[in-house]
Amino acid sequence: MRAESLSFLKELVNTPSPSGYEERAAEVFRQYTRPYSDDVATDVHGNVAAILNPAAEMKIMLAGHIDEIGFIIHYISEDGLLYFSGIGGHDSVIPVGQRVWIHSATRVPGIIGRKAIHLLEDEERKKKPELRDLWIDIGAQNRAEAENLVQLGDVVTFQYEFQHLIGDRATARGFDNKMGGFIVAETIRLLKEEGGLHPGVGVYAVGTVQEEIGLRGARTASFNIAPQTGLAVDVNHAIDYPGVSKTRYGALDIGKGPSVMRGANSNPIVFKMVTEAAREDGIPYQVDVAPGGTGTDGNAMQISRGGMAVGILGVALRYMHTPCELLSLTDVENCARLMAAYCRRVLPTTDFTPRLGI
Ligand SMILES: [Zn+2]
Repeated sequence: MRAESLSFLKELVNTPSPSGYEERAAEVFRQYTRPYSDDVATDVHGNVAAILNPAAEMKIMLAGHIDEIGFIIHYISEDGLLYFSGIGGHDSVIPVGQRVWIHSATRVPGIIGRKAIHLLEDEERKKKPELRDLWIDIGAQNRAEAENLVQLGDVVTFQYEFQHLIGDRATARGFDNKMGGFIVAETIRLLKEEGGLHPGVGVYAVGTVQEEIGLRGARTASFNIAPQTGLAVDVNHAIDYPGVSKTRYGALDIGKGPSVMRGANSNPIVFKMVTEAAREDGIPYQVDVAPGGTGTDGNAMQISRGGMAVGILGVALRYMHTPCELLSLTDVENCARLMAAYCRRVLPTTDFTPRLGI
């Protein structure tokens, strides 16, 4: 991966952005996309869009959500401990024993401890702790001391950051889905630097907000932009490690290229155009099947206004919604190439109406 692109990806995943608190990540997105865009716009919901050919009538929306899961402080006890709720879907075995940052006026370190094993009753040892049983300890001795640094409604993330593993594999907190924000931004760069976009076609690369709490940013962005077609990109479960079944979920391997979803949440013409583009440009891809609406921004996009011709791209990822998500950087790069290849094939006259004989 190009050095500037890699440092943008690192910065985006390392920047905290739990749902509803995406301003810092949106700023990183704006900084990177500005030189490659005709316009960069932020809406009242917080969605940030890098735009090419803003006057064009045929519009393509590219969506990568820039929020991540996290926690929010809802109570500070007399003894200075912070109680929190989950933002997005958490497996409650994960937080125990982790260091966290509380994002207040300053960044405050904290820990999520647990009663020592020696003190656990037999029953407690067998039981998985729930989020409501946990707290964050910042070392405060009482509520007043905690309140000097932390406020109700502050959000929290794990202290994990981007790290290279062997080969092209990397791990980070929040690859879900800031790698998607990276891909839509990178698509704008590829279209600007390498060309090929029809001048009568506009591209809106949107870093959407609040996906993890119900696809909320994609909904408002789709309505505002009113595009005819769009691609959403998100992480997708790799089905390539022990305990996950290909017969149940289908195959999806890390390192074999981005996934292209086939099923009701994808327009058949978009699916055909994307997969043809992949074959023509020599980009590896894997077909992923979803029988109904997906949990991605593509779901909200498809049923916006009178409907949008949507495709859903994915990058295989292990350990989703843990602080050590793992993916292949080559898959990420290929996904941006595939997105750009699709944009280059859309014409002002492209008819996305599902029909026989396409
Ligand atoms: Zn997610």
